[in-house]
Amino acid sequence: MFSLKRVANAYFCGRNFTNYMSNRTFTMIKPDATQKGYTGAILDQIIKAGFTVKAMKWTRLTEAQAGLFYEVHKERPFYGELVAFMSSGPIVAAILEKENAVADFRKLIGATNPAQAEEGTIRKLYAASVGENAVHGSDSDENAAIEGDFFFSKLERF
Ligand code: GDP
Repeated sequence: MFSLKRVANAYFCGRNFTNYMSNRTFTMIKPDATQKGYTGAILDQIIKAGFTVKAMKWTRLTEAQAGLFYEVHKERPFYGELVAFMSSGPIVAAILEKENAVADFRKLIGATNPAQAEEGTIRKLYAASVGENAVHGSDSDENAAIEGDFFFSKLERF
């Protein structure tokens, strides 16, 4: 079976592809937010919160790519909906740097369900629902590295 981790390992020929320090995280501005014109405001909030952009691209996932990215959720009832949504329009993918990046970024974006997100968080401000929730943020240093490697070559990060 394919998994994001296995594909990353195969692609990087077993080398240690985790060339981040633990002060990096990975984010996507999701199709709902790009299509509603929130990209600039969200990036502004991220930068004002002290994150530095180390890599960034405007792109669109195929269904197969979205399926692979979220394959950890493939047994969940919302998986099909999630894959369809994440391939429904353009996204912005980025690697961000800041001390304590993973935890601080999760705090900045707020709870998965915007109804439960704290005031002022990105999801509270810009997300419409638990599915269409404006932004992704890695949940661990290891996943930040794997997810960044999914989108960016070494030449594309600084
Ligand atoms: P996150 O780490 O806060 O992004 O949340 P999870 O890892 O639990 O879920 C990944 C993504 O799946 C979320 O950001 C949502 O886009 C989507 N998702 C989670 N729960 C649901 C749900 O109940 N319904 C739908 N449609 N999508 C969901």
